[in-house]
Amino acid sequence: MVRFTVLASGSKGNSSIVSCLSATGGQTRILVDAGLSCRELFRRMKQVGEDPSTLDAILITHEHQDHINGLAVTARKLGIPVYFTEATHRAWVRQVTPRKRITYAEWAQQYREAKDRQQAEQEAIASHKESSELEELAAEAAADTIRCNFAPDPADERDPESEPEPEFAADQASAPVASDPATEPAKDPARLPSVEYFRPGESFAIGDIAVSPFTIPHDAADPVGFVFTAEGTRLAVATDLGYMPPNVQAQLRRCDLIMLESNHDLEMLRDGPYPWSVKQRVLSRVGHLSNDAAASFLEEIYDGSATYLILAHLSESNNHPELARIAAERALTCKPSLLANRLFLASQHEPMAPVCF
Ligand SMILES: [Zn+2]
Ligand SMILES: [Zn+2]
Repeated sequence: MVRFTVLASGSKGNSSIVSCLSATGGQTRILVDAGLSCRELFRRMKQVGEDPSTLDAILITHEHQDHINGLAVTARKLGIPVYFTEATHRAWVRQVTPRKRITYAEWAQQYREAKDRQQAEQEAIASHKESSELEELAAEAAADTIRCNFAPDPADERDPESEPEPEFAADQASAPVASDPATEPAKDPARLPSVEYFRPGESFAIGDIAVSPFTIPHDAADPVGFVFTAEGTRLAVATDLGYMPPNVQAQLRRCDLIMLESNHDLEMLRDGPYPWSVKQRVLSRVGHLSNDAAASFLEEIYDGSATYLILAHLSESNNHPELARIAAERALTCKPSLLANRLFLASQHEPMAPVCF
């Protein structure tokens, strides 16, 4: 049996489970994205009868917050591998690793202040100088201050692991060594039990489930959608995409279930509360799919093979579930052969009843 369960879908968190109970008795369960907190993920899993401790892996589509929010905690708690593309993993690590850096202006200010201090010291020493020997010593000490604090000699013996680059690192006195992930891995926010890399276009298997990742047009490092194949059933997940390029259209053929983005109503978005820059981003070819774009795919390109269609990643500000449903239903009724489709709307706030094959 193959089962697909949407735990959440929308800008506040995305997560689904693909599970396969094979005829031979094997079981594989994959969490697709971890956009809710670990606690909420577990709560929703229990709500739909899924046991978190039976998950085998976590698969990440891209590094946006609504897809990775509970990732590290969930993976560590369950001790399971996380599958990313390498670029997505790198982007995620950058995102979750705090870097104590200062701007050039801040560094210049600190440099000026230190120089003033040094000059004041020199003047104080000079006013009390009793011999030329003392003057020499003072000049040497001052030179050392400058070198140590702001212009390190390349041959400097300080341990690069324990002390970041002086020029743009944050105040060293307030950056305890314990915050350095290299010296204390237990506190590394990017630590995961294990990481597996995949490449878009190259299929791989997790237990009894074959996974085919494909590139989607979206403003992230290396975003992907997935087709899962298990026990002869094909399930596709395609959300967070600015438009439907031919490679995505091809992936959505011959699927038994398609979870497709129907993010916004164009008019609601145009008249809605978002700043213009955000509206442009959503509307762009690396933004999100509108109700109309999803509907025209269903009407013109979709092959009608899916038993279930799930409209997903609906915007709360710029869409209404009924508008998304009406657009999709209108598109499907244009083709009498598609009337058998079962159409669902995934929600942000509660899990969907599992779909079983
Ligand atoms: Zn996204
Ligand atoms: Zn998203």
